[in-house]
Amino acid sequence: MAKKRVFSICGMCTVRCPIMVESENGVVKFIQGNPHAAGIEGSVCARGAAGIALVNDDERLQRPLIRIGERGEGKWRSTSWDAALDYVSERLKDIMKTHGGRSVLFSDRSGPFRDLHQAFVRGLDSPNYCNHDVSCARNVQHAALSLFGFGRKDLVYDYKNARHVVLQTRNLLEAINVKEVNDLMTGISNGCKLSVIDIRSTNTAVKANRFFMIRPGTDYALNLAVIHVLLNEKLYDSEFAGLWIEDLNKLLSFIGPYTPQWAEEETGIPAEGIIAFTRELAQDKPSVVWHPGWMTARYKDSFYVCRSAYIINALLGSIGAKGGLPLSNTPGDVGRKGLKKLADLFPKPSEKRADGVGWRYPHFDAGPGLLHLAFKAIESEDPYPLKAYIAYRHDPLMAFPDPEALKKIFRKLELLVSVTFTWSDTAWFSDVVLPLSPYLERESIIAGKNGLKPYFFVRQRAVEPRFDTRADWEIFGGLAKRLGLAPLCFDSIESLWNYQLHDTGISIEDFNATGMVSLAEKPRYRTRDELRFKTQSGKIELLAQKLESQGLPSLKHYESPAVPEEGSFRLTFGRSPVHTQGHTVNNPMLFEQMPENVLWLNRDVGERMKLTDGEEVEVSNSGQRGRIKVKLTEFIHPQAVFMVHGFGHTLPVETRARGRGILDNDFMAGGLEVWDEAGGGMAMQEHFVTVQKLS
Ligand code: SF4
Repeated sequence: MAKKRVFSICGMCTVRCPIMVESENGVVKFIQGNPHAAGIEGSVCARGAAGIALVNDDERLQRPLIRIGERGEGKWRSTSWDAALDYVSERLKDIMKTHGGRSVLFSDRSGPFRDLHQAFVRGLDSPNYCNHDVSCARNVQHAALSLFGFGRKDLVYDYKNARHVVLQTRNLLEAINVKEVNDLMTGISNGCKLSVIDIRSTNTAVKANRFFMIRPGTDYALNLAVIHVLLNEKLYDSEFAGLWIEDLNKLLSFIGPYTPQWAEEETGIPAEGIIAFTRELAQDKPSVVWHPGWMTARYKDSFYVCRSAYIINALLGSIGAKGGLPLSNTPGDVGRKGLKKLADLFPKPSEKRADGVGWRYPHFDAGPGLLHLAFKAIESEDPYPLKAYIAYRHDPLMAFPDPEALKKIFRKLELLVSVTFTWSDTAWFSDVVLPLSPYLERESIIAGKNGLKPYFFVRQRAVEPRFDTRADWEIFGGLAKRLGLAPLCFDSIESLWNYQLHDTGISIEDFNATGMVSLAEKPRYRTRDELRFKTQSGKIELLAQKLESQGLPSLKHYESPAVPEEGSFRLTFGRSPVHTQGHTVNNPMLFEQMPENVLWLNRDVGERMKLTDGEEVEVSNSGQRGRIKVKLTEFIHPQAVFMVHGFGHTLPVETRARGRGILDNDFMAGGLEVWDEAGGGMAMQEHFVTVQKLS
């Protein structure tokens, strides 16, 4: 076989960077970032480079499996694809005959390929498509909706042209998105200042001009004080406010008590520091990006942290501004047609969602719903029974709090199916495991990305599958055929792509040169006059009717977070640049880079406990115990401990990852009940653990 080079899309995390893959004789030899993609310029992160190890790993799933033992016992029979798809579709038919299409729940990790999944779920006549976002970015999404009437992705972070970037609990240089990292570094080399607010000094903080180590759970207090200074010193952008902000007078009277001196008591950040910081932001306006957060499933008030961050951006006039948060463009905004949606192959289900979104909770975005509430519906059968659950590349048993409580809920299901390319705790607990080809061995539907320059991109298959695995469009097409969903039965990926490209004026050959098709010649920034918000008033609404009508305040007064007792610490978690949550811990190449997590603990506190750096300690919460090595450091707030999420694997089929480190979510007893009612996100940093010396 000859050497081959294809443009594709990385699948090692949910960012999905454009890549170029070289193979020889059907074996992947080299992966680099797509050199034609702006902001990528040939780079991938460590995880992206480890895609080769994923393909070569014999410990990944190799063929369809049907459970023969008890759930979670790990006893399986291998089977053919026909038998596995027959089995799943027959079980689904039985369940739907008794409980209707609405009894099927589906979740994925969102992203640009979700149209296929949404189409499949719609075809079943189920309204219960969800994604993982309650354990990630729901709070910031809902904060954007409550102010602007559009979602978080309708704003772009223009790091390259920014004069000041503020990252608040956003560890951008370790929770990597390659383009964002490159753009930020370009901005910094052009003179952009970086301010970082976090409970620990991350690698991102190390690059910052200013670092505020904040008391855990008090970010809202800091943001209120910044707003106080902006308003009371009249440092805000009055022209922008006059044009685009509704009810500023309400904010002015609300903010009165939240002085920098008050915030110092709460946050531990000196008042003079807050004042100087705010004045500097005002000087740099409107080219300021105060990042509103990404992984915001942290505290009970995280929604208000995100909302206040957006309000600060609005007061600085940076919403819509070059170097701030300009509005993203859709294909329609640049005079082009978007992709034809697969979901439109089927009518929208008329049934209400099981998670209550849209009716019990009208203030939430119905798109991906709230998965933890769907899980509650499995348990309660309120408003109706959910009996089948398909988890696509999603591992809630590792990603959600209190896995044992979740297993108890899953036991009520009549069918649990995992579609995945690596083992996961959820796959292990499933009735059927449908092995997905890793991204280098499959193509995906064409995807579109909105932005300053919207574009379409496509994932091509770089090599043929090593094992008996399939692409997602083949798996769902196979199920669709058996379930009578004829419109979703495409006989080839080309016919599916042609359907999507219908009427766009673009053919699949147009992707050959670079793997992407740009829909605009140059970035489109809007002038202030051209800004549009999707609220009732057409402006940024500081008072959100949807919140108020639910009895939730638009401007919420601050509540001080709990202070842990002596010997107890707030459990915090985050990312490492070499792992994607739990998915990559067993990857041979990445495991070598970071085989286990450690527990960050403030050095002074640790030394008072007579601990030495590197010794093993016991962590406990509500009867759950685990052992982990402690890392004593002055770079974490004394009230918190921190660990990288995703370790503590227990499956015997993951010989490398098994038994290495511990899982943060195991120490969040009752955590499925702890969430932010205004934003919808889980509040996973509202749990406390005890740390004890072993001898
Ligand atoms: S950030 Fe890294 S792992 Fe994620 S898609 Fe990009 S290259 Fe792949």
